[in-house]
Amino acid sequence: MREEALLKAFQETGALKRGHFELSSGLHSGVYFQSALVLQHPDRAEVLGRALARFVGEHAPRAIVGPALGGLIIGWEVASVLGVRGLFTERKDGEMCLRRGFRLEPGEPVAVVEDVVTTGKSTRETMDVIRAAGGETVAVAALVDRSGGAVDLGVPFHSLLSLPVETHEPSACPECRAGVPLDKPGSRPGEAVLKPRED
Ligand SMILES: [Zn+2]
Repeated sequence: MREEALLKAFQETGALKRGHFELSSGLHSGVYFQSALVLQHPDRAEVLGRALARFVGEHAPRAIVGPALGGLIIGWEVASVLGVRGLFTERKDGEMCLRRGFRLEPGEPVAVVEDVVTTGKSTRETMDVIRAAGGETVAVAALVDRSGGAVDLGVPFHSLLSLPVETHEPSACPECRAGVPLDKPGSRPGEAVLKPRED
């Protein structure tokens, strides 16, 4: 999928906004990304799933694991395209785990699919869960890499779009200095912008 088409899909659905945003941390950013806004459209989610499946399929996983909530929809889309099981991990008391009777075969090759990778923390936790369940993570894919290419997961990693996180203290914020009005998106402003998901 070409980058322009991807940006267009994100922008048309409000998933990607450029402007002046206050994050939950109080820091300011010029970019807001909320994958749920593009993935709420099944036709768009399917196109994105196909684009990621092209990379993921090369690693021949027999199951996809999408960490909930952010990886759930896009992970399932990839699984659907590849014709393999679509599982999800979720947090219970803060711990990432595989619940609901999901099982992996010993040595089963698994790909992790995320919406956004920022520090890779939740992805690594998901890989630990897969290992503990007997599976083997053979690849990781994400819609958006917010690490600036810095994330190293120890397995092949592919994202459709690189969108590095740039944040500023309000006192050093160029948009503040330029007098751009401040936006506070969402009920928990900027949760998808600054830090890895905790849900
Ligand atoms: Zn600012």
